[in-house]
Amino acid sequence: MTTGVPSSPVIITKAKGTRLYDANNGQILDFTSGQLSSLLDHSHPKIVEVVKKYVEELDHLLSNMITQPVIDLTERLARFLPGSLEKSFFLNTGSETTEAAIKMAKCYTGRFEIVAFSASYHGLTQGSGSTTYSAGRKNGGPSMPGQLAFPAPYAYRSFFKKPDGAYDWESELEIGWSLIDRQSVGSLAAFIMEPILSTGGILEPPLGYLARMSVECKKRGMLLIMEEAQTGVGRTGQMFAFERDGIVPDILVLSKTLGSGLPLASGSTTAEIERGCREAGFLWLTTHLNDPLTAAVGNKVLEIVERDNLCQRAAERGQQLRSGLLRLQQKYWCIGDVRGRGLLQGIEIISDAASKTPGAELGQAVSDRAMAGGLSCNVVNLPGMGGVFRLAPPVTVSVEEIEEGLQILDEAFGYVLG
Ligand code: PMP
Repeated sequence: MTTGVPSSPVIITKAKGTRLYDANNGQILDFTSGQLSSLLDHSHPKIVEVVKKYVEELDHLLSNMITQPVIDLTERLARFLPGSLEKSFFLNTGSETTEAAIKMAKCYTGRFEIVAFSASYHGLTQGSGSTTYSAGRKNGGPSMPGQLAFPAPYAYRSFFKKPDGAYDWESELEIGWSLIDRQSVGSLAAFIMEPILSTGGILEPPLGYLARMSVECKKRGMLLIMEEAQTGVGRTGQMFAFERDGIVPDILVLSKTLGSGLPLASGSTTAEIERGCREAGFLWLTTHLNDPLTAAVGNKVLEIVERDNLCQRAAERGQQLRSGLLRLQQKYWCIGDVRGRGLLQGIEIISDAASKTPGAELGQAVSDRAMAGGLSCNVVNLPGMGGVFRLAPPVTVSVEEIEEGLQILDEAFGYVLG
C-alpha cells in the first residue's frame, strides 16, 4: 500500500553509530537521526543490551500491571522535570501521545477548542493531525471541530518589524491572540506547541515568546501542552527546550528521542490535572501502554544522556555545526537563513537573494547531491518557505563527523550552483 512517502533510492542494510550502510557497502552519514529520533548512536551497545535482556525476561503485559522499568522511568523522568510534572504514562508514538494529551486537556477543562501554530506538526492521526498544519491537511475529510491556528513565529519572513528591523514578535503575538479570541466560541481547552517548530521549518520562537504564551494561556484558563518529540531529551543543549524560557507547561509530551529511535513516548502532567482527568472519565488504555521493554530502553537513554553529559555535548557540537553552516552561508548566496538550537539546525534556501524568493527546487537539488555524496539530510517545503534543510545528527556525533558532513554539503552546494 502506498503511504504517500517516496522511497529512498538505496536499500539500507545496517545502521551503526552515525552511519548507515547500503547493500553495496556504500556509507551514508546520518544527519537526520533516522526520523529525527535516534538521539544516540544507531545500535548503541547499551541499548542493544537492554533490548536483549527485556525481550528475554519481561516484554509486554496486561497494561495495568506494574513493572519496575515503568516505576524507574517515571521517577527518572520526574528528576529531570519541573517538580509539578510528576505524573507520567508511556505509549509508543508521537501521534498517539499528542492525541492523548489533547483528550486530557478536553477532559480536564471540559472545553473543546485546541490552538496550534500555523506551521505545527503533532502527528497524523485524526485528532493529532487536526493540530498539524505543516502536512497532510488536504485529504481525509475535515479536521476535528474547534481547531484554531495561531501565526507561527517565523522571524525571517515576518512582516512584523520594529523600526530597527528586528522581529516584532510582541505585535505579531498580540494580533495572533486577538484572532483566536475572535474565532473562539469560548471553549479554549489548550494550546499545543513545539518549542522549536521542526517540520514547520526550524522556527525558533525568540526568548520571551514562550513565557508570554504561557501567561496568555493561563489568562484564558487553557492548558499549555509542550510537545518535544524532536527537541526533548537533550538535543537542543538542555534536557527540554522549554527550560530555556523558564516556563512550566501543564502537559509535556515526549516521543522520538526518548526511545532513541525505538517506539517510546511519554505524557507527563501535574497531580491536579491527572486527578481532574480521572474524575472526568479520561481513558487511555491502548495495547502498549506502559510496556516494560520500551520503558527499560527509555531508562537507559536517560541514564546515558546524564552520564555522558550529552546536553552539553549537543550544545558544543551544535555550535560547531552552526559555525560551519554560517561559513557556508558566506560562501553560497542561496542560503538565506541559518537557525536552530543545539543539534537541531536549519538552513533556508532561496532562489533570489534580494527578494528572498523560496528556493524549494534548489534545496532539493542540493539535498539530492548531498545524498549522492554520502550525507542523509532532510528538506522540508512549506508554502512560502524556501526548502529548509533540517540538520540533526545523533548527539553522540563526533567533531570529525560534523566536519565531514559540512564538507559534503559544501561540495553539494558548489556542484549545484556550478
Ligand atoms: N510531533 C512532532 C513534533 C513530530 O515531529 C512528530 C513526527 N514527525 C510527531 C509529533 C508524530 O510522531 P509519530 O510519527 O511518532 O506519530
